This record gives sequence, structure tokens and C-alpha cells, in this order.
Amino acid sequence: MQDLTKAMIELIRRTSTDLPGDVVKRLQAALDKEEPGSAAHGALETILKNIELARENSTPICQDTGTPIFYVHYPEGWSTRRLKQQIRDAMEEATRLAYMRPNAVDAVYDRNSGNNLGGDDFPYIHFEEVDADQPLTIELMLKGGGCENVGAQYSLPNNELGAGRDLKGVRKVALDAVHKAQGNGCAPGVLGIAIGGDRGSSYYASKEVFFQKMDADSQDPTLARLEQQLTDEANQMGIGPMGFGGKSTVLGTKITGLHRLPASYFVSVSYMCWAYRRRKMTVSGDEIAYD
Ligand code: SF4
Repeated sequence: MQDLTKAMIELIRRTSTDLPGDVVKRLQAALDKEEPGSAAHGALETILKNIELARENSTPICQDTGTPIFYVHYPEGWSTRRLKQQIRDAMEEATRLAYMRPNAVDAVYDRNSGNNLGGDDFPYIHFEEVDADQPLTIELMLKGGGCENVGAQYSLPNNELGAGRDLKGVRKVALDAVHKAQGNGCAPGVLGIAIGGDRGSSYYASKEVFFQKMDADSQDPTLARLEQQLTDEANQMGIGPMGFGGKSTVLGTKITGLHRLPASYFVSVSYMCWAYRRRKMTVSGDEIAYD
């Protein structure tokens, strides 16, 4: 089996220092909508300048380099044990090279490991087997801590919000989460919403949607309509970039649906800040491509 450690270091470097083009495009469109001279316009200008500098200098886009979340789609026959070791080695080296800040803190003893490795689950790695003739793909998302703090989960019905077990109820709780965040978690960002599942699967699914590109609307026309509606309504709240007021509170919304038990109806809302760092590498034989 190939040693992909170096290629994985490059994947981490690109993810941490070079924001994907589709995200930058949305941020530029948000800037164009704001009044020149307003605080919102200034905040977006600063964000876009930071993104450019980070790319030019290969330095992290944000000092919070986020929780590393890897999704590995491996062809039958590859060793997940070795892939995991290579990912961990790559993370340690990428931290030494300052592409990542050492951000893994033991929650019980309050000690920073210093190398972004912690226990068995930091970085988080999810493996999925694919057919032997498929390429190996490794996706990486760096999920900021501030935006993670404003994520929310609702158990419907929610009487306080008047939210029942239907899509109208989903709309109400999703907008409630945006209202409560009030720009914290570094707006403008992206909403990731999972409807259904249990508490655990629902939260995971609400983050998995962030691996999709910004313009990939849901295949389900009902959910695609709700995605557009929530983006428009959130942007009418006037919260704006970093909560300074303005027209750009979210850059987009992604929704997925899961099966649930008749007894429960969870809605999980994850929030991804403007530092929407996700990248993918694909390995076919000796060829390695990055997206
Ligand atoms: S929420 Fe995002 S932009 Fe804000 S500090 Fe964290 S990683 Fe940086």
C-alpha cells in the first residue's frame, strides 16, 4: 500500500490556508450586496483580504484551525489501520510546519497535546468502503470552534417556538438558531440542517452536508426550496457579517433528511463560519488530484 503521508500533509495545507473558490465567490457576492462604507462592507473586505493573504503565504486562514474531520472513501483491500496512521502522522507534521495550530486539548486534564493528536478520535476519521476499481478519496473539513458553539439541536414539537413535526416547524427552529447566534460563530456562514435521525446521527448528518459544494442544491425539490427560503429569510434578519448588521447573515443552506423513530423528531442545525475550509484529494494509481 502507498505511503500517502506527504500527499495528506498537502491536503491539510490546502484546506487550512486556501479557501475553496465557490466559498470565495459567495463572499464576494455578499460584499457586492452591502453598502460601501458600512461596517458589513468593511468586515467582508477584511475577510476577503485575509483569505488572499493566507493563500499567498500558506498560513492558516484563521487562528482557530478547527476540528479536523476526515471522511475516507477507500477501495476494497486498503488497510484502514495504515491509512489512519498516515493521517495522524500527516496531522502531526502539518502542525509542526504551522499549517495547523496545536488545538487539541484534553478536556479532563486541560492539557494541550501540542500536536493536534488526542486519544483515538482527534482528528476524527470516518471510513467508508467503495468498490475495488474506485479511486481512494479523502475529504477534509476543518470545523471552527466558534461556529460549533452556536450549533443547536431541537426536539419537535417545540411549544415555546410553536414548531410542530413538519417542515414549517423545521423552518421555525432553524431561524431561531440563526436569531440566537446573532452573528456569533463568525457570520456570514452556511447552515447545515439534518431532519430526523437520533441525537447522534442527526448532528453528524448536519455536518456531513458541508462536504458538498455551495451550488449543489438538494436533489429533493422540497428540500431545495426550503434551503433557498431559509437563506433568504435569514438574510432578511439584518444580523449581517460578524453581527454588524447588513444583508449577509448566511451564504447558503444545506438540508438533508434521515429516517426517525415515530417517537422522536430531531432537527440539528450546524453552522459553518465564513472560514468554510473543506478540500478533497483523489488517488488513482500514482496520480493524486486535489479539489
Ligand atoms: S468560528 Fe471560524 S472564523 Fe470564527 S474564529 Fe472560529 S474558525 Fe475562525
